[in-house]
Amino acid sequence: MRKPRVVVLGAGYGGLMTVTRLQKLLGSNDAEIILINKNEYHYETTWLHEASAGTLHHDRVRYDVKNVINRSKVEFIKGTIEKINPDEKKVILENGEVEFDYLVISLGSDSETFGIKGLDKYAFAITNVNAARQIREHIEYQFATYNTEEEKDETRLSIVVGGAGFTGIEFLGELTNRIPELCEEYDIDRKKVRITCVEASPMVLPQFDRDLVNYAIALLESKGVEFHIGTAVQEAREDGVLIGKKDEEPQEVKARTIIWSAGVRGNSIIEKSGFESMRGRVKVNNDLRVPGYDNIFIIGDCSLIINEEINRPYPPTAQIAMQHGEVCARNVAKLVQGKTDLENFVFDDKGTVCSLGEDDAIGVVFGKKIKGTSASVMKKVIDNRALFMVGGTSLVLKKGKFKLL
Ligand code: FAD
Ligand code: NAD
Repeated sequence: MRKPRVVVLGAGYGGLMTVTRLQKLLGSNDAEIILINKNEYHYETTWLHEASAGTLHHDRVRYDVKNVINRSKVEFIKGTIEKINPDEKKVILENGEVEFDYLVISLGSDSETFGIKGLDKYAFAITNVNAARQIREHIEYQFATYNTEEEKDETRLSIVVGGAGFTGIEFLGELTNRIPELCEEYDIDRKKVRITCVEASPMVLPQFDRDLVNYAIALLESKGVEFHIGTAVQEAREDGVLIGKKDEEPQEVKARTIIWSAGVRGNSIIEKSGFESMRGRVKVNNDLRVPGYDNIFIIGDCSLIINEEINRPYPPTAQIAMQHGEVCARNVAKLVQGKTDLENFVFDDKGTVCSLGEDDAIGVVFGKKIKGTSASVMKKVIDNRALFMVGGTSLVLKKGKFKLL
């Protein structure tokens, strides 16, 4: 008899948690497990702001997928998914098709531009290793070029960050640590560098207490960041952005580097494949399956689960994606074994830490507020834990962060 085929799409946090758990739960004779990912490597999305600012080399944020899968049980296909045909049980790749009996979709997110003019063309988003590498090199190129030009172009030393959510704030933390190094390397006066952060909402990081947020803002301001809060980016151009408060004339901020960190939407494959979604995120059943499809699970940033306590969706995070992966693996294993008592997903919120460079952070962990060195150490513990959960001690030793202070 043919073994059921389980296909997992995406080797990010959700996908790798699912596969590394499935390979323990199922024997080689129980199912054929296939993992498909665009690259041979997994990257720690949660470290991409560091690679983008250039404070951590991009090779440190990625590792070979084959290091963490059991190749006697899991077949890895390097391929780019173009579409899913849920009714025909097929995944369409750029160079072929793969059929499935059970499917797990864990393809992460795309940057959300809200249709704002010029963003697609002129702004960078911190989305993957290629983007991070390009951002780092773009900033370095601007600094390197500045002194080569007779007529000095100050916009080369001006960087705008659109969106002061977690990604924007974490990137600013790294960037402000990197700028003094860049200034020294390229013989640039630090006073000439302009870093502007534009945040549409009147409240930065509403998830945190104000004293933590004020701490973060004061720290970043002391390192030269100019905040425009309650001000939206309205348009991006080759040489800057138009920003403005509601009902006010927009003003221009000249900059050759625009980093767009104003939120995410589910991977565009979700909409292309015809799943009913809200901004590319599918409201899944409690057992993480797609309504109407008993054999398809969607997890991580492509899924949407409501936090009943506040009647709002849980934000898409690595923490929740990894927990999805664990439950999803157990549920897929049950289906393969012919069982029907699937487990419901319940989020175990362990807290959140927002880094402010490698040496500072703010956070709430197990309900306790932390900031400064203790929060920064906690952030690295969390980063190392994520590695441990997927690849055990050997992965932590290879890729972990050990410079705690
Ligand atoms: P991902 O981990 O993004 O994985 C998706 C995978 O799918 C990738 O390997 C990708 O290559 C692959 N893929 C995508 N499209 C295709 C395709 N068409 N074909 C084949 N493969 C494809 N969350 C936290 O909890 N804590 C943090 O500290 C934190 N920090 C963050 C910092 C930054 C800078 C950013 C951008 C996000 C951060 N997040 C954090 C959010 C977190 O990274 C995401 O929620 C998490 O990565 C989602 O996991 P996922 O498995 O859904 O997707
Ligand atoms: P976000 O949704 O957390 O923040 C986006 C910010 O951009 C918001 O504050 C929003 O008001 C602002 N914004 C929207 N439109 C704007 C405009 N036109 N002009 C200016 N500002 C605008 O998104 P994110 O920071 O990209 O993070 C994405 C997800 O990843 C979130 O779920 C977040 O929790 C998660 N994340 C977590 C961490 C962490 O836990 N340390 C770090 C990074 C990201």
